[in-house]
Amino acid sequence: MALIIEDSCINCDMCDPECPNKAITLGEEVYEIDPEKCTECVGHYEKPTCMSVCPIDCIKKDPQHIESEAQLLAKFLRIHP
Ligand code: SF4
Ligand code: SF4
Repeated sequence: MALIIEDSCINCDMCDPECPNKAITLGEEVYEIDPEKCTECVGHYEKPTCMSVCPIDCIKKDPQHIESEAQLLAKFLRIHP
C-alpha cells in the first residue's frame, strides 16, 4: 500500500529528497505522498526510506491504498520502465 503523511508533519523536508519515485511534495499545509507514485520503496529499498528518515514518525501505511507486493512491484516497473 502507499504511505500517508499525517497532519503532525513539521515540514522538515527530510523525506522529500529521499524518495526514489519523487512521490513526496509539499502540499497546502504539510508534505503529501502521491499514492500513484509511492511503491513503499519496493524495487529500491527493503524498507520505506521516508519512514526511516522522518524524525517524528508521522508517515504511516495508508489503509485507503492497500496493495500487494506484486502490485507495488508492477507500479515500480511502470514508473521505471
Ligand atoms: Fe517514496 Fe518510498 Fe516513501 Fe513511498 S515509501 S513515499 S516510494 S520514499
Ligand atoms: Fe514531514 Fe516527516 Fe517528511 Fe519531515 S520527514 S517533512 S516531518 S513527513
